[in-house]
Amino acid sequence: MPSNRKSKKPAKRYYRKRVELFRLIDKIKLWPSRKGILHGIKIIDKIGDQAQITTHCNKTFTVNNSKNSRAARWLRNKWITGTCRVCRVPDWKLAKYSATQFKRHHGSLLLKESEKRVK
Ligand SMILES: [Zn+2]
Repeated sequence: MPSNRKSKKPAKRYYRKRVELFRLIDKIKLWPSRKGILHGIKIIDKIGDQAQITTHCNKTFTVNNSKNSRAARWLRNKWITGTCRVCRVPDWKLAKYSATQFKRHHGSLLLKESEKRVK
């Protein structure tokens, strides 16, 4: 791995505040626990409006695809107190996440190309 990768700052990216939770976690692969610990997501298994999430520390749970769920709010507001030691979320991923901003009127809704055309 080239050594200059570490010092390179990730580009700022903008997502909508109302982005769907599943789209968001599909993208960033991070999950905030109720204590504010960030876990790395290993598997997202979507079944309709629910998804079974497995973290790298092998916790499995089911979540709903809500824009206003606790997890969505925590990720948006970055109410993060730490990162999971077992998941070992890589620094570049955390840097990418911290460079991500959530805006009300600006940013991506993380739609797929085919969905953009419909809008
Ligand atoms: Zn974990």
